[in-house]
Amino acid sequence: ATPTALLVGTGRGAQMGVLIKGPEVLESTRKVDTVVLDKTGTVTSGKMTLVEVITEPGVDRAELLRLAGALEDASEHPIAQAIAKAATQEAGTLASAEDFANLEGKGVQGVVDGHAVLVGRESLLAEWSQRLSGEVASAKARAEGEGKTVVAVGWDGAARGILVVADTVKPTSKEAIAELKALGLTPVLLTGDNEAVARQIASEVGIEQVIAEVLPQDKVDVVARLQKAGKVVAMVGDGVNDAPALAQADLGLAMGTGTDAAIEASDITLVRGDLRSAVDAIRLSRKTLSTIK
Ligand code: ADP
Ligand code: MG
Repeated sequence: ATPTALLVGTGRGAQMGVLIKGPEVLESTRKVDTVVLDKTGTVTSGKMTLVEVITEPGVDRAELLRLAGALEDASEHPIAQAIAKAATQEAGTLASAEDFANLEGKGVQGVVDGHAVLVGRESLLAEWSQRLSGEVASAKARAEGEGKTVVAVGWDGAARGILVVADTVKPTSKEAIAELKALGLTPVLLTGDNEAVARQIASEVGIEQVIAEVLPQDKVDVVARLQKAGKVVAMVGDGVNDAPALAQADLGLAMGTGTDAAIEASDITLVRGDLRSAVDAIRLSRKTLSTIK
């Protein structure tokens, strides 16, 4: 390939909001056949809002929201921000959490007002033998079937209820996925979120392959596994937890709206945080390389 054509290509990319780290990156996009997409913040806006609070019998709704909110106030996760915001709106100033710990890909724990509080995946609470009642568990399944994200809340040794938050698919994601498929690429949705939520979001945007309930440190292994199976993988992500997978992929694309760690680990930054820019990047490289050939 002539360096000039590649340089022209990277220049054109910049005009479209596709920042390419070096001219050689364009060549690696050519062979890509699989596009792994992180869900939260990539396919979806990542801006969650609290839509429902469901308590176990005898639990005070306001107390549940207040304790969960105080704990989540210390976390930067989109789920946490939605909960903290709703709790602040209802309760005013939140208590501060002691002994706060962020359990990557699982949830948070800490002490609020003398209560040992857990907020996160149902499986995290189960590690502490805190189990939801049948009634609350079925409300959880119903909400997840609607594509919403549900986190469980427990304190002092028992599960106390669930909080339902909803994220929304970015308006341009569906169109971008259709275009990726039209280019002959296979999209795969990758997320730490549960299977039901992942399937619902995938069906909204037209993705058939879903890999869900993947812990942050395992995302990189999913990419490596696809590569071992002979796939040439592009990965699109935004989060700190996507960074190793973005670096492992044959082509890493970071949302410009995402974290610095994701941007640093990637070959390409999509300035607008719009999935259609990933399609632009792949089209651009194909065009650039065909002028060279
Ligand atoms: P994703 O891959 O979709 O960006 P993460 O790996 O960050 O998701 O988180 C996976 C799951 O862990 C979440 O869907 C949620 O159930 C739980 N979780 C993670 N962090 C938190 C938190 N701060 N509060 C509540 N739940 C959390
Ligand atoms: Mg993410």
